[in-house]
Amino acid sequence: MERKIEVGILGATGMVGQQFMLQLDGHPWFDVTWLGASQRSEGRRYADAAPWRLATPMPAMVRDLMVEAAEPGRGSGAPRLVFSALDSSVAGDIEAAFAAAGHIVVSNAKNYRMDPVVPLLIPEINPEHLALLSAQSAARGWTGRIVTNPNCSTVVLSMVLAPLRRFGLRRVMVTTLQAVSGAGYPGVASLDILGNVIPFIDGEEEKMESEARKILGVAHDGVVEPHDVVVSAQTTRVPVANGHTELVSIGFDVRPPEDELREALASFTGVPQQLGLPSAPGQPIVYLPERNRPQPALDVQRGAGMTVSVGRLRRCPLFDYKLVALGHNTVRGAAGAAVLNAELMRAEGLLA
Ligand code: NAP
Repeated sequence: MERKIEVGILGATGMVGQQFMLQLDGHPWFDVTWLGASQRSEGRRYADAAPWRLATPMPAMVRDLMVEAAEPGRGSGAPRLVFSALDSSVAGDIEAAFAAAGHIVVSNAKNYRMDPVVPLLIPEINPEHLALLSAQSAARGWTGRIVTNPNCSTVVLSMVLAPLRRFGLRRVMVTTLQAVSGAGYPGVASLDILGNVIPFIDGEEEKMESEARKILGVAHDGVVEPHDVVVSAQTTRVPVANGHTELVSIGFDVRPPEDELREALASFTGVPQQLGLPSAPGQPIVYLPERNRPQPALDVQRGAGMTVSVGRLRRCPLFDYKLVALGHNTVRGAAGAAVLNAELMRAEGLLA
């Protein structure tokens, strides 16, 4: 049997860090051997440092691991491959320090997503963006690498738009209803969110409007040409635990037939499915015909949280069509996305 690749988790104690533990528990290729977080957690057993918030119990493999400082070369030393679930206020410097020290950083944080030499990867959509890595060491002086996954609401939107690109996608208006787990822990105070909707998430609309264009773009000679689509986003926080719902209106060059759009969504597949990557869902998108779906309570766990659910495709009197989409924000929108990125990199020989 092939030896597993040792991995570390930066920001291991947070909401996304905890989701990493579930994604990597029993993983056929990766083995969690190192954890890093802030001074608050450093030197403590993971079971004592992490305020566990997930419905599945903490995996036994990590309970007794000691949390170390999030600094390369300190303590027992992180393995070459590290996933990052660091708070964005510190991720910029820490991830760069790890990349400079030769680590491959597969990050959830926003800091490097729009860097022109950093892939912003969704393996079903743009696996060829990994070609940006060849320019990274010359441009940044790192001996390691940084690869990122998108913001949690951008993943859901991009998954819906990718199969529709070939119809001449031009204009998108999206309103999100985002789960509280997307704000980390403790996140939004209960008195602010119970029975309420908060119509502002700092920086979220700007991320959706820029990241989707890069993700859907084409990579030529180490440069990504953004897709020529205009995205207008409004983002809200709602009292839902997990799952971001998105109400999307879409305009095309010429309105395509509705049944062709539905078929394009339902049959969407990509490199992860062809390669049979361990975290790849059988169906990246499921189209639900019921008129009251998707719903977070019923659909967020589809494909173990890696499938995006879509429904209610219909004509829009302002744009051409509108639909509803739903994705798991800490799985497809964060830890699961990063693990799938690392699996693609391993399959492409980039972790050798
Ligand atoms: P979180 O629950 O607040 O966790 C933040 C993590 O960062 C904790 O492990 C924390 O360690 C660590 N940290 C904070 N300050 C640090 C420092 N000075 N040095 C080292 N480590 C430090 O946040 P989250 O929701 O898991 O999000 C993590 C990242 O993923 C963020 O960049 C976020 O934007 C991104 N993201 C989140 C989601 C989501 O749905 N939640 C989705 C996509 C992307 P301590 O516990 O020791 O303080």
